[in-house]
Amino acid sequence: MIVAIDGPAGAGKSTVARALADALGLVLLDTGAMYRAVTWRVLESDVDIHDAAACASVAAEVQLSFDSVGIVVDGVSREQEIRSRAVDQAVSVVAAHPAVRAAIVPNQRVVAESGAVAEGRDTTTVVFPEADHRFFLSASARERARRRASQRGDGESIEVILADIQRRDHLDSTREDSPLKRGEGVMVVDTDGLSAEEVVSKLLDSVRGASA
Ligand code: C5P
Repeated sequence: MIVAIDGPAGAGKSTVARALADALGLVLLDTGAMYRAVTWRVLESDVDIHDAAACASVAAEVQLSFDSVGIVVDGVSREQEIRSRAVDQAVSVVAAHPAVRAAIVPNQRVVAESGAVAEGRDTTTVVFPEADHRFFLSASARERARRRASQRGDGESIEVILADIQRRDHLDSTREDSPLKRGEGVMVVDTDGLSAEEVVSKLLDSVRGASA
């Protein structure tokens, strides 16, 4: 079974996807982590983030997999490194290069071969348009910034996080290739005012209801 969870930054995709994967006994596919890993490698290698061809060669060469902690890049766990501010700032530029996406998407389909909960912008529209269940999580930008701030706990102000979220929303939804959007037939779940547990239970009801 494939469950795809789409939506903008900070809508709660990661938390909800992890809980759903546990509850359903499926692998978790964090597609954002893969774009972050490529971006981290691009920055480490001093490659220009605007150079599409150079970024695409990095994406083609880098070996990505997941362990119980998170992403593994060329055999080394890098879950912490890929969440840095530098990566936050560069990832939407790197992820917008069609050649980077072309190199990464087949890997995502391989990870999900035996079923998965896949989360990320474009998972319901491009990567798994035929998924058994497709959800789009939404929430206001301020609510999303507030959640990110409490998740990170590094003292960064909500205003700074909000600005970053709005910048990424804009880049992700206006890019040519695989923009962030609500696809047809995708169930939209407005998560404002809902706890992660409430969202998970809504999604589980829908998954179980549909297969009952
Ligand atoms: O989900 P996360 O915030 O970690 O994703 C980081 C960035 O990776 C997003 O802002 C977006 O630019 C890119 N991304 C993407 N397609 C996906 C997942 C993430 O372009 N499926």
